[in-house]
Amino acid sequence: MPESAVPLPAPKLGEPYLLTPGPLTTAYSTKETMLKDWGSWDAEFRTMTKSVCRQLVALAGDTSGEFICVPMQGSGSFSVEAMLGTLVPKDGKALVLANGAYGLRAAETMRYLGRAYTLIDKGDYMPPRGDEVAAALDADPAITHVVAVHCETSSGILNPVAEISEAVYKRNRKLLIDSMSAFGALPLDVNKIRYEAMVSSANKCIEGVPGFGFVIARRSVLEAAKGNSHSLSLDVHAQWAYMEKTGQWRYTPPTHVVAAFQEALRIHAEEGGVAGRGARYTKNRDVLVKGMRDLGFETLLKDRWLSPIIVTFFCPADPNFDFSTFYDLMKAKGFIIYPGKLTVVDSFRIGCIGRLDEHVMRNVIQAAKDALADMGVTSAAPPEAAIAERAKLAA
Ligand SMILES: *Cc1c(COP(=O)(O)O)cnc(C)c1O
Repeated sequence: MPESAVPLPAPKLGEPYLLTPGPLTTAYSTKETMLKDWGSWDAEFRTMTKSVCRQLVALAGDTSGEFICVPMQGSGSFSVEAMLGTLVPKDGKALVLANGAYGLRAAETMRYLGRAYTLIDKGDYMPPRGDEVAAALDADPAITHVVAVHCETSSGILNPVAEISEAVYKRNRKLLIDSMSAFGALPLDVNKIRYEAMVSSANKCIEGVPGFGFVIARRSVLEAAKGNSHSLSLDVHAQWAYMEKTGQWRYTPPTHVVAAFQEALRIHAEEGGVAGRGARYTKNRDVLVKGMRDLGFETLLKDRWLSPIIVTFFCPADPNFDFSTFYDLMKAKGFIIYPGKLTVVDSFRIGCIGRLDEHVMRNVIQAAKDALADMGVTSAAPPEAAIAERAKLAA
Protein backbone atom coordinates (compact mmCIF):
# COMPACT_ATOMS: atom_id res chain seq x y z
CA MET A 1 0.00 0.00 0.00
CA PRO A 2 1.58 3.35 -0.95
CA GLU A 3 1.77 5.92 1.82
CA SER A 4 -0.81 8.64 1.31
CA ALA A 5 1.05 11.56 -0.22
CA VAL A 6 -1.89 13.92 -0.06
CA PRO A 7 -3.39 14.55 3.39
CA LEU A 8 -7.05 13.61 3.70
CA PRO A 9 -9.27 16.70 3.80
CA ALA A 10 -10.08 17.99 7.27
CA PRO A 11 -13.65 17.83 8.57
CA LYS A 12 -15.64 20.86 7.41
CA LEU A 13 -16.61 23.96 9.38
CA GLY A 14 -13.82 23.63 11.93
CA GLU A 15 -15.30 20.47 13.41
CA PRO A 16 -12.84 18.61 15.61
CA TYR A 17 -11.55 15.21 14.54
CA LEU A 18 -13.15 12.38 16.49
CA LEU A 19 -10.32 10.20 17.76
CA THR A 20 -12.94 7.82 19.10
CA PRO A 21 -13.85 4.29 18.05
CA GLY A 22 -17.19 5.17 16.44
CA PRO A 23 -19.00 7.39 15.87
CA LEU A 24 -15.90 8.62 14.11
CA THR A 25 -14.83 11.20 11.55
CA THR A 26 -16.46 10.34 8.24
CA ALA A 27 -15.76 11.52 4.71
CA TYR A 28 -17.64 14.59 3.54
CA SER A 29 -19.14 12.63 0.65
CA THR A 30 -20.45 10.05 3.14
CA LYS A 31 -22.28 12.78 5.07
CA GLU A 32 -23.44 14.46 1.87
CA THR A 33 -25.14 11.25 0.69
CA MET A 34 -27.65 11.71 3.51
CA LEU A 35 -29.17 14.80 1.87
CA LYS A 36 -31.46 12.62 -0.21
CA ASP A 37 -34.62 10.87 1.03
CA TRP A 38 -35.34 7.27 0.11
CA GLY A 39 -38.50 5.19 0.09
CA SER A 40 -37.82 2.01 2.03
CA TRP A 41 -40.05 -0.05 -0.30
CA ASP A 42 -38.60 1.47 -3.44
CA ALA A 43 -36.61 -0.72 -5.81
CA GLU A 44 -33.62 1.64 -5.64
CA PHE A 45 -33.36 1.24 -1.89
CA ARG A 46 -33.87 -2.52 -2.07
CA THR A 47 -31.04 -2.71 -4.60
CA MET A 48 -28.86 -0.67 -2.29
CA THR A 49 -29.49 -3.00 0.66
CA LYS A 50 -28.71 -6.02 -1.47
CA SER A 51 -25.51 -4.48 -2.79
CA VAL A 52 -24.34 -3.48 0.70
CA CYS A 53 -24.92 -7.02 2.00
CA ARG A 54 -23.14 -8.58 -0.96
CA GLN A 55 -20.11 -6.35 -0.41
CA LEU A 56 -19.98 -7.13 3.30
CA VAL A 57 -20.01 -10.88 2.71
CA ALA A 58 -17.17 -10.40 0.21
CA LEU A 59 -15.17 -8.49 2.84
CA ALA A 60 -15.46 -11.59 5.04
CA GLY A 61 -13.85 -13.55 2.21
CA ASP A 62 -16.89 -15.59 1.19
CA THR A 63 -17.38 -16.03 -2.53
CA SER A 64 -19.31 -19.30 -2.49
CA GLY A 65 -22.59 -18.07 -1.00
CA GLU A 66 -21.98 -20.07 2.15
CA PHE A 67 -22.37 -16.95 4.30
CA ILE A 68 -25.22 -14.47 4.52
CA CYS A 69 -25.26 -10.87 5.71
CA VAL A 70 -28.29 -9.68 7.64
CA PRO A 71 -28.41 -5.98 8.55
CA MET A 72 -30.16 -5.05 11.80
CA GLN A 73 -31.43 -1.61 12.87
CA GLY A 74 -29.86 -0.04 15.95
CA SER A 75 -26.37 0.38 17.37
CA GLY A 76 -23.83 -2.44 17.46
CA SER A 77 -25.07 -3.85 20.76
CA PHE A 78 -28.50 -4.46 19.19
CA SER A 79 -26.83 -6.67 16.61
CA VAL A 80 -24.77 -8.51 19.25
CA GLU A 81 -27.98 -9.19 21.15
CA ALA A 82 -29.70 -10.25 17.94
CA MET A 83 -26.87 -12.64 17.04
CA LEU A 84 -26.72 -14.22 20.51
CA GLY A 85 -30.49 -14.51 20.85
CA THR A 86 -30.90 -16.00 17.39
CA LEU A 87 -27.89 -18.28 17.10
CA VAL A 88 -27.52 -19.68 20.61
CA PRO A 89 -30.55 -21.97 20.96
CA LYS A 90 -32.71 -21.82 24.07
CA ASP A 91 -31.15 -25.07 25.32
CA GLY A 92 -27.62 -24.03 24.33
CA LYS A 93 -24.88 -22.73 26.58
CA ALA A 94 -22.26 -20.12 25.76
CA LEU A 95 -18.75 -19.64 27.02
CA VAL A 96 -18.16 -15.88 26.94
CA LEU A 97 -14.55 -14.68 26.81
CA ALA A 98 -14.15 -11.25 28.39
CA ASN A 99 -11.22 -8.91 28.84
CA GLY A 100 -13.04 -5.61 28.96
CA ALA A 101 -16.40 -3.89 28.73
CA TYR A 102 -17.63 -5.46 25.49
CA GLY A 103 -16.97 -9.07 26.55
CA LEU A 104 -18.77 -8.33 29.81
CA ARG A 105 -21.65 -6.77 27.85
CA ALA A 106 -21.99 -9.99 25.83
CA ALA A 107 -22.22 -11.95 29.10
CA GLU A 108 -24.78 -9.46 30.44
CA THR A 109 -26.76 -9.93 27.24
CA MET A 110 -26.85 -13.70 27.81
CA ARG A 111 -28.11 -13.04 31.34
CA TYR A 112 -30.92 -10.82 30.00
CA LEU A 113 -31.81 -13.47 27.44
CA GLY A 114 -32.08 -16.02 30.21
CA ARG A 115 -29.72 -18.32 28.31
CA ALA A 116 -27.12 -20.47 30.04
CA TYR A 117 -23.58 -19.12 29.90
CA THR A 118 -20.29 -19.26 31.69
CA LEU A 119 -17.70 -16.52 31.72
CA ILE A 120 -13.93 -16.38 31.54
CA ASP A 121 -13.16 -12.87 32.79
CA LYS A 122 -9.52 -11.88 32.28
CA GLY A 123 -9.95 -8.43 33.83
CA ASP A 124 -9.13 -5.14 32.15
CA TYR A 125 -7.07 -6.41 29.22
CA MET A 126 -5.32 -9.79 29.63
CA PRO A 127 -6.10 -11.81 26.47
CA PRO A 128 -8.13 -15.02 26.68
CA ARG A 129 -5.83 -17.72 25.27
CA GLY A 130 -6.52 -20.87 23.29
CA ASP A 131 -5.38 -23.23 26.05
CA GLU A 132 -7.76 -21.61 28.56
CA VAL A 133 -10.65 -21.98 26.13
CA ALA A 134 -9.67 -25.61 25.54
CA ALA A 135 -9.60 -26.34 29.29
CA ALA A 136 -12.99 -24.65 29.85
CA LEU A 137 -14.59 -26.62 26.99
CA ASP A 138 -13.09 -29.92 28.17
CA ALA A 139 -14.40 -29.24 31.67
CA ASP A 140 -17.99 -28.48 30.58
CA PRO A 141 -19.53 -30.60 27.81
CA ALA A 142 -22.77 -28.57 28.04
CA ILE A 143 -21.11 -25.59 26.32
CA THR A 144 -22.28 -25.34 22.71
CA HIS A 145 -20.98 -21.90 21.68
CA VAL A 146 -18.00 -19.67 22.43
CA VAL A 147 -18.35 -15.88 22.20
CA ALA A 148 -15.13 -13.91 21.55
CA VAL A 149 -14.37 -10.23 21.01
CA HIS A 150 -11.97 -9.59 18.12
CA CYS A 151 -10.62 -6.19 19.16
CA GLU A 152 -11.69 -5.36 22.73
CA THR A 153 -12.21 -1.66 22.22
CA SER A 154 -12.14 -0.81 25.92
CA SER A 155 -8.35 -1.36 26.03
CA GLY A 156 -7.62 -1.66 22.29
CA ILE A 157 -6.23 -5.19 22.64
CA LEU A 158 -6.28 -7.43 19.60
CA ASN A 159 -7.45 -10.78 20.92
CA PRO A 160 -6.00 -13.99 19.45
CA VAL A 161 -9.13 -15.15 17.58
CA ALA A 162 -7.23 -17.64 15.40
CA GLU A 163 -5.98 -19.72 18.33
CA ILE A 164 -9.38 -19.40 20.03
CA SER A 165 -11.10 -20.69 16.87
CA GLU A 166 -8.74 -23.64 16.70
CA ALA A 167 -9.47 -24.61 20.31
CA VAL A 168 -13.23 -24.27 19.73
CA TYR A 169 -13.45 -26.39 16.57
CA LYS A 170 -11.04 -29.09 17.82
CA ARG A 171 -13.72 -29.64 20.45
CA ASN A 172 -16.61 -29.45 18.02
CA ARG A 173 -18.18 -26.29 19.40
CA LYS A 174 -19.25 -23.16 17.55
CA LEU A 175 -17.61 -19.73 17.54
CA LEU A 176 -19.45 -16.38 17.44
CA ILE A 177 -17.27 -13.26 17.08
CA ASP A 178 -17.90 -9.64 18.02
CA SER A 179 -15.70 -8.00 15.39
CA MET A 180 -17.45 -4.66 15.82
CA SER A 181 -14.34 -2.47 15.95
CA ALA A 182 -12.11 -4.62 13.71
CA PHE A 183 -14.14 -5.75 10.69
CA GLY A 184 -13.16 -3.90 7.54
CA ALA A 185 -9.65 -3.07 8.77
CA LEU A 186 -8.41 -6.39 10.15
CA PRO A 187 -8.92 -9.60 8.21
CA LEU A 188 -11.53 -12.05 9.50
CA ASP A 189 -11.54 -14.27 6.45
CA VAL A 190 -13.91 -17.23 6.65
CA ASN A 191 -11.37 -19.24 4.65
CA LYS A 192 -8.66 -18.67 7.24
CA ILE A 193 -10.44 -18.47 10.59
CA ARG A 194 -13.41 -20.72 11.19
CA TYR A 195 -16.51 -19.21 12.81
CA GLU A 196 -20.29 -19.51 12.51
CA ALA A 197 -21.14 -15.83 12.67
CA MET A 198 -19.67 -12.43 13.30
CA VAL A 199 -21.18 -9.06 14.01
CA SER A 200 -20.10 -5.50 13.24
CA SER A 201 -21.71 -2.11 12.66
CA ALA A 202 -21.85 0.79 10.23
CA ASN A 203 -19.92 3.34 12.26
CA LYS A 204 -16.59 1.65 12.91
CA CYS A 205 -13.89 0.63 10.42
CA ILE A 206 -16.08 0.96 7.32
CA GLU A 207 -16.45 4.63 8.36
CA GLY A 208 -20.21 5.01 8.00
CA VAL A 209 -22.50 6.90 10.35
CA PRO A 210 -24.29 5.13 13.25
CA GLY A 211 -27.68 3.50 12.78
CA PHE A 212 -27.36 -0.18 11.98
CA GLY A 213 -25.26 -3.27 12.54
CA PHE A 214 -24.97 -6.50 10.60
CA VAL A 215 -24.58 -10.19 11.29
CA ILE A 216 -22.61 -12.30 8.83
CA ALA A 217 -23.57 -15.91 9.46
CA ARG A 218 -23.14 -19.32 7.90
CA ARG A 219 -26.27 -20.06 5.86
CA SER A 220 -26.82 -23.50 7.42
CA VAL A 221 -26.57 -22.05 10.93
CA LEU A 222 -29.04 -19.28 10.14
CA GLU A 223 -31.45 -21.73 8.52
CA ALA A 224 -31.41 -23.84 11.66
CA ALA A 225 -32.07 -20.81 13.90
CA LYS A 226 -35.76 -20.33 13.18
CA GLY A 227 -37.75 -19.82 16.37
CA ASN A 228 -34.70 -19.38 18.62
CA SER A 229 -35.03 -15.65 19.17
CA HIS A 230 -36.36 -14.18 22.39
CA SER A 231 -37.25 -10.97 20.57
CA LEU A 232 -39.50 -10.03 17.68
CA SER A 233 -37.46 -7.08 16.42
CA LEU A 234 -34.04 -8.66 17.08
CA ASP A 235 -34.77 -11.95 15.31
CA VAL A 236 -32.00 -12.30 12.72
CA HIS A 237 -33.67 -15.30 11.12
CA ALA A 238 -36.97 -13.45 10.67
CA GLN A 239 -35.20 -10.36 9.28
CA TRP A 240 -33.32 -12.55 6.81
CA ALA A 241 -36.43 -14.53 5.77
CA TYR A 242 -38.38 -11.31 5.16
CA MET A 243 -35.52 -9.76 3.19
CA GLU A 244 -35.19 -12.89 1.06
CA LYS A 245 -38.87 -12.72 0.25
CA THR A 246 -39.38 -8.98 -0.25
CA GLY A 247 -35.95 -7.34 -0.53
CA GLN A 248 -37.04 -5.05 2.29
CA TRP A 249 -36.07 -4.61 5.91
CA ARG A 250 -38.83 -5.91 8.20
CA TYR A 251 -39.36 -2.60 9.97
CA THR A 252 -38.36 0.98 9.08
CA PRO A 253 -34.74 0.95 7.93
CA PRO A 254 -32.30 3.83 8.60
CA THR A 255 -32.45 4.76 4.92
CA HIS A 256 -30.05 7.73 5.04
CA VAL A 257 -27.56 5.71 7.07
CA VAL A 258 -27.63 2.87 4.55
CA ALA A 259 -27.06 5.34 1.72
CA ALA A 260 -24.13 6.86 3.61
CA PHE A 261 -22.79 3.36 4.26
CA GLN A 262 -22.87 2.55 0.57
CA GLU A 263 -20.69 5.59 -0.10
CA ALA A 264 -18.40 4.57 2.79
CA LEU A 265 -18.06 1.12 1.21
CA ARG A 266 -17.16 2.72 -2.12
CA ILE A 267 -14.38 4.69 -0.42
CA HIS A 268 -13.28 1.54 1.42
CA ALA A 269 -12.92 -0.36 -1.87
CA GLU A 270 -11.15 2.58 -3.49
CA GLU A 271 -8.65 2.57 -0.62
CA GLY A 272 -7.78 -1.05 -1.27
CA GLY A 273 -10.36 -2.87 0.85
CA VAL A 274 -9.45 -4.48 4.16
CA ALA A 275 -5.70 -4.43 3.39
CA GLY A 276 -5.67 -0.74 2.40
CA ARG A 277 -7.82 0.35 5.33
CA GLY A 278 -5.74 -1.73 7.73
CA ALA A 279 -2.51 -0.25 6.37
CA ARG A 280 -3.67 3.33 6.92
CA TYR A 281 -4.84 2.59 10.47
CA THR A 282 -1.58 0.77 11.22
CA LYS A 283 0.39 3.79 10.04
CA ASN A 284 -1.84 6.04 12.18
CA ARG A 285 -1.17 3.81 15.19
CA ASP A 286 2.59 3.67 14.58
CA VAL A 287 2.92 7.46 14.22
CA LEU A 288 0.71 8.01 17.28
CA VAL A 289 2.48 5.51 19.54
CA LYS A 290 5.97 6.65 18.57
CA GLY A 291 5.10 10.33 19.01
CA MET A 292 3.39 9.82 22.36
CA ARG A 293 6.28 7.67 23.61
CA ASP A 294 8.69 10.41 22.53
CA LEU A 295 6.67 12.77 24.78
CA GLY A 296 7.12 10.32 27.67
CA PHE A 297 3.67 8.65 27.58
CA GLU A 298 3.47 4.89 27.88
CA THR A 299 0.97 2.45 26.41
CA LEU A 300 -0.99 0.01 28.52
CA LEU A 301 -0.23 -2.82 26.11
CA LYS A 302 3.04 -4.21 24.89
CA ASP A 303 3.55 -3.91 21.14
CA ARG A 304 2.42 -7.46 20.34
CA TRP A 305 -1.11 -6.77 21.61
CA LEU A 306 -1.57 -3.24 20.27
CA SER A 307 -4.36 -3.02 17.71
CA PRO A 308 -4.40 -0.45 14.92
CA ILE A 309 -7.88 0.57 16.15
CA ILE A 310 -7.45 2.39 19.45
CA VAL A 311 -4.57 2.78 21.90
CA THR A 312 -4.73 3.15 25.69
CA PHE A 313 -2.16 5.44 27.30
CA PHE A 314 -1.52 5.81 31.02
CA CYS A 315 -2.20 9.22 32.50
CA PRO A 316 1.04 10.91 33.61
CA ALA A 317 1.92 10.74 37.31
CA ASP A 318 2.79 14.48 37.33
CA PRO A 319 0.38 16.15 39.84
CA ASN A 320 -0.25 18.95 37.33
CA PHE A 321 -1.91 16.49 34.94
CA ASP A 322 -5.69 16.47 35.02
CA PHE A 323 -7.58 14.41 32.43
CA SER A 324 -10.59 16.67 32.05
CA THR A 325 -8.33 19.71 31.51
CA PHE A 326 -6.27 17.68 29.02
CA TYR A 327 -9.50 16.68 27.24
CA ASP A 328 -10.69 20.29 26.99
CA LEU A 329 -7.30 21.48 25.73
CA MET A 330 -7.17 18.72 23.11
CA LYS A 331 -10.69 19.58 21.99
CA ALA A 332 -9.80 23.26 21.68
CA LYS A 333 -6.88 22.19 19.47
CA GLY A 334 -9.25 20.19 17.25
CA PHE A 335 -9.19 16.67 18.66
CA ILE A 336 -11.80 14.77 20.65
CA ILE A 337 -10.10 11.99 22.62
CA TYR A 338 -11.65 9.29 24.76
CA PRO A 339 -11.45 8.56 28.49
CA GLY A 340 -9.94 5.26 29.60
CA LYS A 341 -11.83 2.30 31.00
CA LEU A 342 -9.23 0.67 33.27
CA THR A 343 -10.25 -0.04 36.83
CA VAL A 344 -6.76 -0.08 38.39
CA VAL A 345 -4.95 2.99 37.01
CA ASP A 346 -5.98 6.19 35.24
CA SER A 347 -5.78 6.11 31.47
CA PHE A 348 -7.13 7.63 28.28
CA ARG A 349 -7.57 6.35 24.75
CA ILE A 350 -6.85 7.71 21.30
CA GLY A 351 -8.54 6.12 18.30
CA CYS A 352 -6.71 5.48 15.03
CA ILE A 353 -9.84 4.87 12.94
CA GLY A 354 -11.99 7.18 10.85
CA ARG A 355 -11.16 9.59 8.07
CA LEU A 356 -7.72 10.56 9.35
CA ASP A 357 -4.17 9.78 8.39
CA GLU A 358 -0.58 10.03 9.59
CA HIS A 359 -0.49 13.81 8.96
CA VAL A 360 -3.42 14.23 11.33
CA MET A 361 -1.69 11.98 13.85
CA ARG A 362 1.41 14.19 13.80
CA ASN A 363 -0.83 17.16 14.63
CA VAL A 364 -2.33 15.12 17.49
CA ILE A 365 1.16 14.66 18.94
CA GLN A 366 1.88 18.38 18.66
CA ALA A 367 -1.46 19.16 20.34
CA ALA A 368 -0.68 16.74 23.18
CA LYS A 369 2.74 18.31 23.62
CA ASP A 370 1.22 21.80 23.76
CA ALA A 371 -1.52 20.65 26.13
CA LEU A 372 1.07 19.25 28.57
CA ALA A 373 2.93 22.57 28.44
CA ASP A 374 -0.34 24.49 29.00
CA MET A 375 -0.95 22.42 32.16
CA GLY A 376 2.63 22.78 33.39
CA VAL A 377 3.24 19.03 33.15
CA THR A 378 6.98 18.43 32.81
CA SER A 379 6.93 14.64 32.54
CA ALA A 380 4.33 12.40 30.89
CA ALA A 381 5.75 9.31 32.64
CA PRO A 382 3.07 7.14 34.28
CA PRO A 383 3.02 6.21 37.97
CA GLU A 384 4.83 3.12 39.26
CA ALA A 385 1.50 1.36 39.73
CA ALA A 386 0.85 1.55 35.99
CA ILE A 387 4.19 -0.02 35.12
CA ALA A 388 3.56 -2.77 37.67
CA GLU A 389 0.15 -3.38 36.14
CA ARG A 390 1.57 -3.71 32.64
CA ALA A 391 4.28 -6.10 33.83
CA LYS A 392 1.55 -8.73 34.31
CA LEU A 393 1.01 -8.91 30.57
CA ALA A 394 3.13 -11.43 28.68
CA ALA A 395 5.36 -10.03 25.94
C1 LIG B 1 -18.66 -0.42 19.48
C2 LIG B 1 -18.64 -1.83 19.96
C3 LIG B 1 -19.82 -2.53 20.27
C4 LIG B 1 -21.20 -1.93 20.12
O1 LIG B 1 -21.35 -0.76 20.79
P1 LIG B 1 -22.60 0.20 20.46
O2 LIG B 1 -22.33 1.36 21.36
O3 LIG B 1 -23.83 -0.52 20.79
O4 LIG B 1 -22.50 0.52 19.01
C5 LIG B 1 -19.71 -3.85 20.62
N1 LIG B 1 -18.51 -4.45 20.73
C6 LIG B 1 -17.35 -3.81 20.47
C7 LIG B 1 -16.07 -4.56 20.59
C8 LIG B 1 -17.37 -2.47 20.08
O5 LIG B 1 -16.23 -1.83 19.82
